[in-house]
Amino acid sequence: MFRRPRPTHDVRVTAVAPLTSTLVRLTLNGPTLADLGIEHPTQWVKLAIPEGHSRAYTIRHHRPGQGEVDIDIVLHGNGPVSRWAATARPGDAARLAGPRGRFQPLDSAAHLLLAADESALPAALTILDRLHPSVRVSAYFEIADAADALPLSTRADLTTSWLPRPTGHPKGHLLSAALLDARLPSSASAWLAGEASSVTAIRRHLLTDLGYPREHVQAKGYWKQGESDHKG
Ligand SMILES: Cc1cc2nc3c(=O)[nH]c(=O)nc-3n(C[C@H](O)[C@H](O)[C@H](O)COP(=O)(O)OP(=O)(O)OC[C@H]3O[C@@H](n4cnc5c(N)ncnc54)[C@H](O)[C@@H]3O)c2cc1C
Repeated sequence: MFRRPRPTHDVRVTAVAPLTSTLVRLTLNGPTLADLGIEHPTQWVKLAIPEGHSRAYTIRHHRPGQGEVDIDIVLHGNGPVSRWAATARPGDAARLAGPRGRFQPLDSAAHLLLAADESALPAALTILDRLHPSVRVSAYFEIADAADALPLSTRADLTTSWLPRPTGHPKGHLLSAALLDARLPSSASAWLAGEASSVTAIRRHLLTDLGYPREHVQAKGYWKQGESDHKG
């Protein structure tokens, strides 16, 4: 089977706004973005930069009428796309391919667990944006600093644990430790994303120790410590 090529979209940066100490929001505009077709939370694109590298990023907002998207990028300083984003300015060119991915809709009365580090926070927020008020959500978000906790708006019944990472602590460890320690509901759906090893540890805990059915747990390694362009 051949994969159908994804549509590509030439874009320009129109605005750059720091969101937290580690996340920058790039607003990108392009003549074909009205037709990007974002219908589900967590949908993502491949963002290709002029020097040729491309990486996966979540469409945080899509404004079809303006032919515009917002993408929130972690400035971890270690990879080509993160470095490009750190110095991006209005007028800079890039290309998007996609969109891809989708979040399976949940039972409207479910209890939902969300676990994310900064890389997956934009995607987690697209889920929160669209939840039904009857959904109870327990969200665990690992962030670089307590001041990085973002204001959250959702219609769902949300309890959030922000987990600021102590200096020098490896990314993702706090998140997996928090979920392994937490008193989690005996039955829930879960969406987990972030550093691959921590996501694997949390997934294993939910499936093996708590007996969550496999189909109730959506887990994706968004990046992997020490690995460039990780394909989760
Ligand atoms: C479906 C999907 C959606 C995603 N959405 C987003 C998003 O909205 N925002 C976002 O910022 N990221 C997102 N990511 C993660 C992003 O694609 C990766 O972090 C990517 O590796 C960054 O590329 P890079 O060129 O900066 O680094 P790479 O060249 O891929 O990696 C270079 C080095 O940096 C390390 N590294 C990579 N990412 C991080 C990180 N976040 N923190 C610390 N070290 C890192 C790697 O381990 C490697 O050692 C998403 C990933 C997927 C699969």
